[in-house]
Amino acid sequence: MTGAAPPRLLDAKGRIKRKLRVSLTDRCNLRCHYCMPEHPTWLPRAQLMDNAELQRLVGLFVRTLGITELRLTGGEPLLRPDVPELVRMLAALRSEGLQRIALTSNGVRLAPVAAALRDAGLDDLNISIDAITPETFTALTRGQLAPVLEGIASAKAAGLPIKLNCVVIKNANEAEVLPLTQWAKARGLPLRFIEFMPLDARKSWSSEKVVSEDEIVALLSSHYQLKPLPRASDPAQYYSVDEDYRIGVISTISKPFCASCDRLRLDARGQLYTCLFSATATDLLTPLRAGASDAELLALIRTAVWHKPAGYAEQPGYVERPITMHHLGG
Ligand code: SAM
Ligand code: SF4
Repeated sequence: MTGAAPPRLLDAKGRIKRKLRVSLTDRCNLRCHYCMPEHPTWLPRAQLMDNAELQRLVGLFVRTLGITELRLTGGEPLLRPDVPELVRMLAALRSEGLQRIALTSNGVRLAPVAAALRDAGLDDLNISIDAITPETFTALTRGQLAPVLEGIASAKAAGLPIKLNCVVIKNANEAEVLPLTQWAKARGLPLRFIEFMPLDARKSWSSEKVVSEDEIVALLSSHYQLKPLPRASDPAQYYSVDEDYRIGVISTISKPFCASCDRLRLDARGQLYTCLFSATATDLLTPLRAGASDAELLALIRTAVWHKPAGYAEQPGYVERPITMHHLGG
């Protein structure tokens, strides 16, 4: 017996969309200098999608447009007190095609909610950790490392699959690449390094501050035997490390993967960004609040996605955008 073909959401370059990232808030309890403005002003809460609005939009993406993977991000998503409840609501979409619900967090508020997130149906968790030396962590984030380590331990104890992510910036935390790898490897925790992208609110990015995939591999090769692994659909290139561990590198800047991009992004105000580097967005929340039908919202989404830009590969460097990383989520 053959069932109906799964729905497909395509852009004009033939790229099928399968992943949606949803920012739950622009607020954050850290001030990572590669992300946040020095003095952030937060969006008024009334402008943010509530759980019912978010569920309606995500439902359309899953049910009618073929999105199978969802990642909740921010700002810091765990500043929203009701995330386990939201995950539970979204998990109801599994019967309509949703395969994975993931979350990206800075880990500061994770320890008390890790078990509740697992019970609600969260499939996996990315935790940002840019240094294993407390002083370097504080210099980068203006926060403390201890609660993040506690969050990681709680997530592990709760049985939640975790990945650690570290943005590497020249003359800031390059020296952390090796000790962080040693720390994560000793604990069997998956680790990925991310190249610094020109999405920081302070506009301090320059190509000289990027530590490229090749440089990260060279740093690790002084200590370990690294071998590239066959490329999968993940944005990271993976390397085996001494045959018994592996690390990933997300090289958006030095080796952009725009040609195979299958992602879309919804900010906390319900604005659809079809590319992390888009200069424009499509407002879905205003029409939703004005009573738009599902068909009208779907038409807006399909048109926006069809016109998805080629991406960073075609326009490298800074892009003037209405928002920065802490609004949209990584
Ligand atoms: N607050 C959560 C966190 O830090 O994990 C979620 C939101 S944060 C914007 C998502 C990811 O984007 C984090 O892994 C963060 O390190 C990354 N990120 C932020 N600004 C970046 C930049 N300019 N270049 C590369 N990655 C960045
Ligand atoms: Fe906050 Fe995450 Fe941005 Fe750091 S990277 S300031 S934790 S949103």
